[in-house]
Amino acid sequence: YIYEASLTPNDTYLSDLWGLVNENKNSGGVDIDAPAAWDITTGSRDVVVAVIDTGVNYRDPDLRNNMWTNQAELNGQAGVDDDGNGYVDDIYGYDFANSDSDPMDDNDHGSHCAGTIGAQGNNGIGVVGVNWNVRIMALKFLKGTGGGTLEDALKAIDYATDKGVDVMNNSWGGGGYSETLKEAIERAEQAGILFVAAAGNNRNNNDSRPSYPASYQIPNVISVAAVDSRGRIANFSNYGKRSVHVAAPGVDILSTGVNGLKKLSGTSMASPHVAGVAALLLADSPGLSYQDL
Ligand code: CA
Repeated sequence: YIYEASLTPNDTYLSDLWGLVNENKNSGGVDIDAPAAWDITTGSRDVVVAVIDTGVNYRDPDLRNNMWTNQAELNGQAGVDDDGNGYVDDIYGYDFANSDSDPMDDNDHGSHCAGTIGAQGNNGIGVVGVNWNVRIMALKFLKGTGGGTLEDALKAIDYATDKGVDVMNNSWGGGGYSETLKEAIERAEQAGILFVAAAGNNRNNNDSRPSYPASYQIPNVISVAAVDSRGRIANFSNYGKRSVHVAAPGVDILSTGVNGLKKLSGTSMASPHVAGVAALLLADSPGLSYQDL
């Protein structure tokens, strides 16, 4: 017999990340079995995930090495739109909420999603994401108070589509049906990009009362509900036999924030587990289409 240890990283708070590794069999031991995946791949810097949210704390020691950077702007001239995409000095992404080039997080929410997707693994500190290595693009359209406009959401999605990201994480929702938002997601679909979205936190059946953007009937959309560490649907989570596709860990999730680590709950926390798994699959099999994912 040859026994092999599942690959586990040395990050300080790994044992608190029940969504990735849950050894507590008494409470069901529900998790995404991340170490089994990490035996195959721990991620790749060739994979880019756009976090469309409140921004990302790109200075966090667990995030700073896994940020996407716009090489033309990084190596370009200050005050000049070096890559000609209409945005000046967009190095880590863009802040559409404040119309400036600094997508620093002023809430926690976007950084938290980013950490679940790709907090650097095996660096001896903090947490680890589903991907130890990945590139996170920071697209801020939600203000520090958490709200954002349709117009800014469209700009953020189109920015990511234009840059050819692999996956978009969308831990936001609200408002009614919007044909223009649907068309922006369809442009992402045409570009082959997976659009992962939180199902929403209203204990609502999305089959009968849609929650957007998760409920748009576009084939690249994955709608994500939240479960707890026993595998029970979270008491706040939306659901829907036809319109919600998968559930993921979303209760008491530890991840990165604006000032260190934070525990948060929501379908917002479940969605990045799914976006992270998609990125991990792409690290192992770069040719996968969003349909495959
Ligand atoms: Ca630019």
